[in-house]
Amino acid sequence: MPFLCSICSEESTRICARCTKDACNNHLCERCLRCSDCCECEVALVDQELRAPTARSMFPRPEPEPEPEPIPNPEPEPTGPEPDPV
Ligand SMILES: [Zn+2]
Ligand SMILES: [Zn+2]
Ligand SMILES: [Zn+2]
Repeated sequence: MPFLCSICSEESTRICARCTKDACNNHLCERCLRCSDCCECEVALVDQELRAPTARSMFPRPEPEPEPEPIPNPEPEPTGPEPDPV
């Protein structure tokens, strides 16, 4: 059962380091790991319900492409009845 943010009731995976209430990513400070109620880093943001996506998680990550292995192509010789040249 997922925890629910104590502020907006959204699904939360972490708790506040101070009041130990559940807080979603939007309401949990990354710096002090406190919920918006307890966070003292960005007090000005508490009143604003801004949901700006963190640019940190939107970095394009270059993924190394796996080299395609050469597929052996075993072609079985057709074993049909060959006409006897007489
Ligand atoms: Zn929340
Ligand atoms: Zn808190
Ligand atoms: Zn904080």
